[in-house]
Amino acid sequence: MSVIGENIDAYCLKCKLVLAHVIMFKVDGAVNKVKCNTCGAQHKYRAKMPAAKKSAVNKPLTLKETIAKRAAAAKVEANNAPMQWDLRNRSMDRAASVKDYSIHNQYRARDVVNHHSFGLGFVERIVSDKSMDVLFSDAVKLMAMNIS
Ligand SMILES: [Zn+2]
Repeated sequence: MSVIGENIDAYCLKCKLVLAHVIMFKVDGAVNKVKCNTCGAQHKYRAKMPAAKKSAVNKPLTLKETIAKRAAAAKVEANNAPMQWDLRNRSMDRAASVKDYSIHNQYRARDVVNHHSFGLGFVERIVSDKSMDVLFSDAVKLMAMNIS
């Protein structure tokens, strides 16, 4: 229990340190005003240094953050095939098997195919038993499959 006239550790705005202060008065049982033993300043009682100002809030985004933000936005943009393809390409499991695309083969959603002219493609959706949507680096293409 701190008593008026006694010392208490408080943060001094002038000294910018937690120092011994004399309690000047209390309000509702809480220390209200103190006097710094070091510089003599009288001020409101603060046990600790005030929290640092939130300077990070409006800070401009770093390049990395900007890229991450764009990448996140690309996920919801259905027509941005090149960007989506790029994301998929970068995040794909390198151990995943890439199947050479052939009109005769059957594929499943999430298969990775290699097309002789379109290059690497990600099977997005099986449209019917003979067609599928494949995300290539330039666009999503409806590809035939399972044709005998
Ligand atoms: Zn002081």
